[in-house]
Amino acid sequence: MSGSTSVSRKTFDNVMLPVYAPAEFVPVKGKGSKVWDQQGNEFIDFSSGIAVTALGHCHPALVNALKTQGEMIWHTSNLFTNEPALRLAQKLIDTTFADRVFYANSGAEANEAAFKLARRYAITRYSPYKTKIIAFTHAFHGRTLFTVSVGGQPKYSDGFGPKPADIVHVPFNDLDAVKAVIDDHTCAVVLEPVQGEGGITPVDAEFLRGVRALCDQYQALLVFDEVQSGMGRTGTLFTYMQYGVTPDILTSAKALGGGFPISAMLTTEEIAQVMAPGVHGTTYGGNPLACAVAEAAFDVINTPAVLSGVKVRYNYIVSQLEKINDVYHVFSDIRGLGLLIGAELQPAYQNMARDFLTAAIDNGLMVLNAGANVIRFAPSLVIPESDLEQGMIRFEKAVKQIVETKGK
Ligand SMILES: *Cc1c(COP(=O)(O)O)cnc(C)c1O
Repeated sequence: MSGSTSVSRKTFDNVMLPVYAPAEFVPVKGKGSKVWDQQGNEFIDFSSGIAVTALGHCHPALVNALKTQGEMIWHTSNLFTNEPALRLAQKLIDTTFADRVFYANSGAEANEAAFKLARRYAITRYSPYKTKIIAFTHAFHGRTLFTVSVGGQPKYSDGFGPKPADIVHVPFNDLDAVKAVIDDHTCAVVLEPVQGEGGITPVDAEFLRGVRALCDQYQALLVFDEVQSGMGRTGTLFTYMQYGVTPDILTSAKALGGGFPISAMLTTEEIAQVMAPGVHGTTYGGNPLACAVAEAAFDVINTPAVLSGVKVRYNYIVSQLEKINDVYHVFSDIRGLGLLIGAELQPAYQNMARDFLTAAIDNGLMVLNAGANVIRFAPSLVIPESDLEQGMIRFEKAVKQIVETKGK
């Protein structure tokens, strides 16, 4: 017996730091794109644990890697290297612009490493004053004090005392705004190729090319936070590959481990050389268990079958959302890239994204919001057609419920 019945959702309110407001049910089991709660109720999962379980729950290849490595060796520290870490690093290098990999455990830590590296590079190669980081409003880069300060949502970074200095925010997809602030003291421009938490906003191709040119002109590094948009989520291994614009540093997390905590920062040989033993590190980064699972996830995700299936599923979801909208007129915009889709609510439904989530749960569906006004769809990249169809039917019921309740 797992003892899962001795704790319940109510326990949360008594024992956990109150930084989350989780749903009223407790998931206990998942298989593919289905999840079951303590009472045995079934849910279809369009959330993937916030774009993490890209291959669904308990994918056999990942379970197998976890079990196999679990009986080999779990942890070695960075006083030793290990085979899964080296194999995964080699694969990441072989398939991207990068020559060097640094592992951590979360998206925030990968970004923390990226921002420290960008500053270190500029200070070492150019000047101690080349420390300005240009970032974007509505961006999200994690919750450490540095990353949350680079993020463009002051409500997340205010209230914790002095913030790291020399960070400037400008509107996303606005090249003139970047031009107005970039200078010789700029060490990096940081952006998400698709802003995730900020409302599912893909970067504009022309803007991205313009930012790359500005970075080259001012010897600033271009950093792509692909924590959410990477690892197949938008239909290519990383989103930058669709734009033909190459970063100097890229971060990956979320889907990288398919649900096992791991993140990576990728960069070039030239930039990597400003680091040396002792300059940066983490206890768990590159842990063999995490890397073994991530390697298995990588091998499945980076295949034509999985990557090409993303577009097909995107088309289906968007066409169903448009049909739903024709009937209920709840969305003002449906946008996104691959299986990172946002449906923005009409003014009449302002700040009601969480209500849609709750209504979806009532109908056996897990979806996400991205801010107060956008419903986010991020199902597994391999979600079966039948689950996708059933999930959209359940979503339509949820929308109907909201519209009818509001009309009363
Ligand atoms: C989720 C996310 C992060 C933070 O990752 P954690 O693992 O929660 O630290 C950073 N950047 C982006 C784009 C994200 O979506």
